[in-house]
Amino acid sequence: MTTPPLRWFPLPHGFARRFPLLVLTGLAVVLACRPQPAAAPARQLAARGALATGDLAITNVSVVTMTDSTVMRDAAVLAHDGRITYVGPQRELRVPIGTRVINGRGGYVIPGLADMHTHLFSDGEEVPDSAGPAELGVMVANGVTAVRLMIGTPEQLALRDAVRAGTIIGPQLWVASPQLTGRASENAIVTTTDAEAGEAVRRVKREGYDFVKLTLFLTPPVWESIIDEAARENIAVVGHVEPDVGVVRAAAAGQQLEHLDSFLEAALADSAPMKASLTQYRVFQMRNWPSLDFIDPGKVDALAGAVARSGVYVGPTQNVFNTAFGAGESLDTMSARPDFKHWPPRLREGYLRAHARYWAPANDTIKTPERRAKYVAIRDQFVKALQDSGGKLLAGSDTPEWFHLYGSGLHRELRALVHAGLTPYEALLTATRNPAQYLGASSAWGTIETGKRADFVLVTGNPLDDITNTARIRGVAVGGRWLDRVTLDQMIDRGARATAGSQ
Ligand SMILES: [Zn+2]
Repeated sequence: MTTPPLRWFPLPHGFARRFPLLVLTGLAVVLACRPQPAAAPARQLAARGALATGDLAITNVSVVTMTDSTVMRDAAVLAHDGRITYVGPQRELRVPIGTRVINGRGGYVIPGLADMHTHLFSDGEEVPDSAGPAELGVMVANGVTAVRLMIGTPEQLALRDAVRAGTIIGPQLWVASPQLTGRASENAIVTTTDAEAGEAVRRVKREGYDFVKLTLFLTPPVWESIIDEAARENIAVVGHVEPDVGVVRAAAAGQQLEHLDSFLEAALADSAPMKASLTQYRVFQMRNWPSLDFIDPGKVDALAGAVARSGVYVGPTQNVFNTAFGAGESLDTMSARPDFKHWPPRLREGYLRAHARYWAPANDTIKTPERRAKYVAIRDQFVKALQDSGGKLLAGSDTPEWFHLYGSGLHRELRALVHAGLTPYEALLTATRNPAQYLGASSAWGTIETGKRADFVLVTGNPLDDITNTARIRGVAVGGRWLDRVTLDQMIDRGARATAGSQ
C-alpha cells in the first residue's frame, strides 16, 4: 500500500482494505457505515457475559439507576453471583458475611455503558489478533460493558465466545458481519448482484454473526436484495445508507441507520442545484461542501419525524464525524490525549497524513469555517430533532477512528449528544437503556435494578448534572467482578502495549 490505511472509514481504492467507515480517496475519505432494523432477533437474548461468584457491595453512594431521571441518595448496591440483589437505602442494607465491600462515599453508581459502534485495532493487519483480549480490557476499563463490533471477523466471534465463557474479561459482545460492500475492501464481502446479496446474507447468518453490516457502494437493487434475504433469514441489517437508497426507504425497511448517512442529501432544498452532499466519502470532496448552503430547515424536522415514526434506531456517531470533518482538532489536541499512545505507528502515520490533507489551507476557500460550523450544527439539529420526535438514539463511538480510542471515545460521544441538545439523562439513555432495548436484552442489563447483571461503574460526580462525569471512573463491576482503579489502569496500559507495541 502506498497510502496509509484509514481502516474504519471505508476507502475506495484499497486504502482501507478492511474497515469501512470512511473512504479516503486521494484527497478524500469517505464515511461508510452500517444499518440496523428496529428489533434484534430473539436469539440475542442469550447471556453474553460470564457472572462472577460471591457477593459485592458498593456502599454510601448515590445511584443513577436510569429507570428514571432521579438519583437515589444515601444508597447501596449489592450483587450476588454476578446479579444485582439489592438497590436501596444504605441504612437498610444487610451485608452477607464474606461480601467484598467497596466504600463508594461521594461517588455515583451508573449502569455499565454500551458502545453500539466500535472496531478493534486487531481487526486490521497492523495489529495481531492476539491483541483482542487486551483491547476489550481497555473498553471495560473505561466503563464499557456491552459493545457492538461493527465490522466482524472470525476472531471476533471467538472473542464473543471467550467473554461469554469468562475466559477473558471483556464487554458482552455483539458482532456484526464483515462489511457488505460494492467494492473490494478489508474484511469485506463484495456484493454487486442479487445472487451475491443472497449468498452474503446466508453466509453471515450461517457463520454466526449478529447483524448484516452494510458499508459503501451498494446499488439500490442489491441493497433491496440484502434486505429481502435478511428478512427471510431473520437477521437484522445495520449500517451505512447510500443516498441512492435514501434514509426514508432504509428506515421503512427496518435498517438500523448509522452516521446520519444520507440525511443531508434528504434535507437539500428542492431548488438546490445539486443532489450530492457530504455523506460517506463525499465529505472529502470539496465540490460537495457548497451543498450545505442549500439545506432546508423544514426538511430537517420532517425527516427526523419520519425516521422516528419508522421505529428504527439511529446511531449518529456524532463525536467522530463532528470532530473529524466539522469542528476539527489540532495535532496537538489529538496527540495530547492518552488515546494517542495506543495507535500502532504505521496506522498513526496514515491518519496524520489524511488529517493534513483534509485540513490543508487550500481547502478553506470552499470548506469555509462557516460551512464547517454548519456541518456540525445541522448534524446536531438532526440529533435533537430525532430525540424530540421520539426517535431512538444509540451511542456509538466509531472508535478507534481519527485518534479516538474505544472506551474513552464513548464518553466523548455522550458529550457530543449533549452538545446537540440532549439532556445528560437523555444522552446517558443512548448508552444504557436504549441499546439494551435495541438488542432485546432489557431484562438483563441497561439499568441498576434487582435481577440485572451487576455491570456498573462507580464515578465521581453526578453525570446527570455534568455528562463529563461519566469518565471520572473509580471502579467498574462487570458481571459482579470488581475492578478497582489500579487494576483498570493496568488494563489500559496492557492495551496500549498490545496495539502500539506490536510493530
Ligand atoms: Zn465504524
